[in-house]
Amino acid sequence: MAFDRFGRKIQYLRISLTDHCNLRCLYCMPEDMTFRPNAELMQDDEILFFTQMFARLGFNKIRLTGGEPTVRANLVEIVRGIVATPGIDTVTMTTNGVLLPRLAKPLAKAGLKRVNISLDSLNPARFKRLTRWGDMEDVWEGILAAEEAGLTPVKINAVVVGGYNEDEVVDLARLTITNPWQVRFIEMMPFGGATDFQLSQVINAAQIQVRVEAAFGPLEAVNAGQLDGEARVFHIPGAKGDLGFISSVSQPFCSNCTRARLTAEGVLRMCLLRDHEIDLLSPLRTGTSELELRNLILDAVWNKPWGHGLANGVIARNRVMNQIGG
Ligand code: SAM
Ligand code: SF4
Repeated sequence: MAFDRFGRKIQYLRISLTDHCNLRCLYCMPEDMTFRPNAELMQDDEILFFTQMFARLGFNKIRLTGGEPTVRANLVEIVRGIVATPGIDTVTMTTNGVLLPRLAKPLAKAGLKRVNISLDSLNPARFKRLTRWGDMEDVWEGILAAEEAGLTPVKINAVVVGGYNEDEVVDLARLTITNPWQVRFIEMMPFGGATDFQLSQVINAAQIQVRVEAAFGPLEAVNAGQLDGEARVFHIPGAKGDLGFISSVSQPFCSNCTRARLTAEGVLRMCLLRDHEIDLLSPLRTGTSELELRNLILDAVWNKPWGHGLANGVIARNRVMNQIGG
């Protein structure tokens, strides 16, 4: 088991399969983003090697992310290999959904359990503006394909950005009345000036909830208001699905954080919003022993920061979201 010095058991690994993406969301990356050459990314066998190492340290939950994980070559085989790793109980994925119409079924067959699909706007013109060229219909088809393939319950991630889509939270919440989905509203996190957005454009979860309750009346708390992962979950009375509020900026869930992130180029990052990182891939490629790698991981876990420093103006500067793996 891997524990940090605050007694948190760290058992959830987010693996970024690539920093490449088929969209360019405004809050995630600059338009002229350059991606890493494939040779610098973890190769398939390296991903599986690290998965086995982490599993042996007690990690049992894996989320695949990116960049856009579905643009990774051999994705289905990679998922199959991770699912087959002893000790790994659940493998899920965060995706923009664009390629799911083609991939949902093979991924489900390979053992992927669920997907979180990002959809910030139901207005096609606005969706295009937020993603710089995306087609909302593709994502919608992806959501339906995920549902049909049994990658359920489908969770929909909506990052709420001041001046862009905060007026759409009611329409997004309405989706849960007739669909058994969880629509999750995510506070936008600022990343060191590399994207167009700053703290002043964060719409916080409380503001979103006020808007939703003004339309649907008081929401019912699910789990007595306890966190479900990083989300506080509510329910519109009578709705088939749920609403999640992820308040990483205004009400951080750091004390309950059980995560580590492995970037696409094999660097371990113990806090999304802190710059500190530990390179694992270079030592692996230069012949470092398994025992030494294990010690590097255990040391990194032990020294996991207590939490982020946004409240004190500390912003991650060395990477933007697609380079970390959200
Ligand atoms: N490409 C996939 C997707 O969009 O779902 C997976 C990677 S993306 C980096 C993971 C999640 O991070 C998405 O839900 C995205 O909306 C979110 N995200 C990206 N930049 C963000 C930011 N600045 N603040 C909050 N969430 C962000
Ligand atoms: Fe791509 Fe996801 Fe970032 Fe959007 S949020 S640019 S889909 S990695």
